[in-house]
Amino acid sequence: MWRRALPRYPGPGPAAASASALIGCLRRLQSTLVLAEHDNQKLTPITLNAITAAKQLGGDVTCLVAGTDCSKVVKEVSKVHGVKKILVAQNDIFKGLLPEELTPLVLASHKQFKFTHICAGASAFGKNLVPRIAAKLDVAAISDIIEIKAPDTFVRTIYAGNALCTVKSSDEVKVFSVRGTAFEAAATDGGDASSEEVSVPSAAGLSEWLEQNLSKSDRPELTSAKIVISGGRGLKSGDNFKLLYDLADKLHAAVGASRAAVDAGFVPNDLQVGQTGKIVAPDLYIAVGISGAIQHLAGMKDSKTIVAINKDPEAPIFQVADYGLVADLFKVVPEMTALLEK
Ligand code: FAD
Repeated sequence: MWRRALPRYPGPGPAAASASALIGCLRRLQSTLVLAEHDNQKLTPITLNAITAAKQLGGDVTCLVAGTDCSKVVKEVSKVHGVKKILVAQNDIFKGLLPEELTPLVLASHKQFKFTHICAGASAFGKNLVPRIAAKLDVAAISDIIEIKAPDTFVRTIYAGNALCTVKSSDEVKVFSVRGTAFEAAATDGGDASSEEVSVPSAAGLSEWLEQNLSKSDRPELTSAKIVISGGRGLKSGDNFKLLYDLADKLHAAVGASRAAVDAGFVPNDLQVGQTGKIVAPDLYIAVGISGAIQHLAGMKDSKTIVAINKDPEAPIFQVADYGLVADLFKVVPEMTALLEK
C-alpha cells in the first residue's frame, strides 16, 4: 500500500492514464535512504552504485552517514550527483559500523522521514545490515538486486546466477541491497547536498567492536579492478600463484581465485570470486586453471571480456570465454609475463 495519496494525474482523467504515466507519477513520490559504507575517511565505491539505483527510483535520495569522525565522508557525499540530503550521526557507538548499532539509527530516521525505500550496496556491510532492518520493519529484505523495473518491482538472480527472478513488493517500505556491478557508479561531482545531524539512539550494546586486521596490498582492489586474473585448482599450490602475481604486476591487475583454490589453502578467502565469494565485472577477466563451475561463473560472467587458459578443451569455462587458450598454464603464463616485459 502506498503511504501517500497519488497526486492528480495532469491528463484527461484517471481512466486515460497510461501505465507509464502512472509509473512516472509513482517515481516522483519516492524518497530513498541510501546507507553509506565508509571507513570514516572515504566512501566505499559500492555506495556510489547504490546511489545510482536509488536515483533510478525517482524522487529524493538521502544518504545516511554514520561514523565516529566522518566529516570527510559527509563532504565527499555532498558532492555526489543526485544526493539531496545527508543525515549525519557521529558517535563512538558507530565504531566498526556494527549492524546492531546502526539498525536503531536507521529505524529512528525512517520514523522521522518516512522513506519509501531503504537500500545499501550488497557488500558484507549491506548484507549484514539490510536483513536486520527489514526484519525490524517486518518487511521482506530483497537482496542483491540487479535491475529496477518499477518502484515496487526489482530483478535479482537465483540459482547461482542462472535464472532471473522478478520480485514485486507490496510492502510499505522496500528494503534492498544493490549489486554493485549491475549499476554504474554515481558521478562524484556536480552534487550539492545539504547535511543535517540526526540524534543518536542509546547504544544497543549487543556486540562490541574490538579491532580489524586488514590485509594490505599495493594491487588494485578485487571488486573495483579493471583487470582481474584468477587462479583455480589447476595452479596446484599457493606458491604457484606467484605466476599470476607476476603477470598481474605487468597488467596492473587484481588477483582472484576459485573456491577450490581457497579451500585448498592456496590463497586467503578474501580472494574468492563467485556465488559465495566476491562478484566482479572488470573490463578483462583472465581465468587460469579454473574449470568454470556455475558457482564461479556467478561471480564473474558479467566481465566485459573473458579469457580462459585451461589444458582441457572441454572445460565449461570456454563456453563463456571470449578468448580461450587450450594450453598448460605453467608454460603459457610465464611466456605472457615475459612478452609484457619486452
Ligand atoms: P576444478 O573444477 O578442479 O578445475 C581445475 C581446472 O584446472 C580444470 O578445468 C583443469 O583442466 C585445469 N587445469 C589443471 N591443470 C592445469 C594446467 N597445468 N594448465 C591449465 N589448466 C589446468 N566456486 C567458486 O569458484 N566460487 C564460489 O563462490 C563458489 N561457491 C560455491 C557455493 C556452493 C554452494 C557450492 C556447492 C560450490 C561453490 N563453488 C564455488 C565450488 C564450485 O562448484 C567448484 O567446485 C569450484 O569453482 C572449482 O574450482 P576450480 O575450477 O578451481 O577447480
